[in-house]
Amino acid sequence: MRSITRAAVEAMDARDPLAGCRDRFTLPPGVIYLDGNSLGALPARTPERVARVVEDWGRDLIGGWNRHDWIGWPRRVGDRIARLVGAQPGEVIVADSTSVSLFKLLAAAVDLNRGRRVILSEADNFPTDLHVAQGLSRLLGNAIELRTVEAAAVSAALGGDVAVLMLTHVNYRTGAMHDMRGLTAAAHAAGALALWDLSHSAGAMPLALNEARVDLAVGGGYKFLNGGPGAPAYLFVAERWLAQIQPALAGWMGHARPFDFGAAYEPAPGIERFLVGTPPVLSLAALDAGVETFDQIDLRQVRAKSIALGELFRRLVEQECGAFGLHLVSPPDPERCGSQVCYAHADGYAIVQALIARGVIGDFRAPDVLRFGFAPLYTRHVDVFDAVVALREVLATRAYDHPRFRVRAQVT
Ligand SMILES: *Cc1c(COP(=O)(O)O)cnc(C)c1O
Repeated sequence: MRSITRAAVEAMDARDPLAGCRDRFTLPPGVIYLDGNSLGALPARTPERVARVVEDWGRDLIGGWNRHDWIGWPRRVGDRIARLVGAQPGEVIVADSTSVSLFKLLAAAVDLNRGRRVILSEADNFPTDLHVAQGLSRLLGNAIELRTVEAAAVSAALGGDVAVLMLTHVNYRTGAMHDMRGLTAAAHAAGALALWDLSHSAGAMPLALNEARVDLAVGGGYKFLNGGPGAPAYLFVAERWLAQIQPALAGWMGHARPFDFGAAYEPAPGIERFLVGTPPVLSLAALDAGVETFDQIDLRQVRAKSIALGELFRRLVEQECGAFGLHLVSPPDPERCGSQVCYAHADGYAIVQALIARGVIGDFRAPDVLRFGFAPLYTRHVDVFDAVVALREVLATRAYDHPRFRVRAQVT
């Protein structure tokens, strides 16, 4: 096989229909950012959008809630996200964190499917998803049990006692992607509800929640949606459940008429019932600008570029770094992988730190995984090429052996 040259990779950028989208972001010079799957880059419009809300607050004070419809933002931004995940307006609302959203929907799911006592999930799911299920189980006096199995065994584990199948679509550590449509159908055939965590898929590929008949879903705002550090999350409830689903985490913002100040809880008629407290307006402004980076974008093109970037990265790593003991942990088939490529190496943490010192930002996931994410709106093919050149250099020179690269920071 002929080796891939930088000139060939530049030609890929010249042909890239999404190349212009990079201008929608403000990226620091001299940095190759391969971590947009963990914290999306800064959209060019975000500073002005947040500044405008701050000004509105200063001038209009409490009047801003009505004058600028701040109170309606969780729904408005939710409607925008709906297009990205294959949902209808009115099925998605923005609030709280992914963890809290999971709690809300898991609690509602076991309530909807009473009489069944199992939350089925995958042993290698993101820890918070499992912690939330464990906490809920404890709260319910262990009347509900979390059962985890290996990814390949999920279908077979869908017994008659499963209330809800809770899975993350794209695995955070390997990029392995589940068959959302097939597993949702299998859950339904077993009488279970299907709850999907879209944290590593929304914004990186087209999703079709309604076509796949998904019941419930959650996802974060700060990864591929570019909403900023700690951006609020969103949750989805299929329209067919909205009339009967009951929030356990009931709060006044989810009340049918919050400003009647009635003592008795009465859920809002639609998706708004999953609001709990006052919306974080500054964060919503930033998330809105983040979601806007997808305006007029065809997510099929996003997925095509994501696969192209990932394949290029794999081939270049094979070509340049084959001798250095990196072990691919992502699925070999890019079609079954999200927008990241991951390798295991015993010195993974130090290697990632040495790369960051060279301006190539990926991240590390314990125990030994180097993770490289590709946000198709702003990652170029040449970024992938240059990142692999830096990786080869770090590996060949053992630059990662320096003690300063072995000091573990709190966030990895
Ligand atoms: C990033 C991520 C989360 C994060 O949850 P927060 O509550 O926003 O901290 C949860 N689940 C998955 C699968 C994730 O990838």
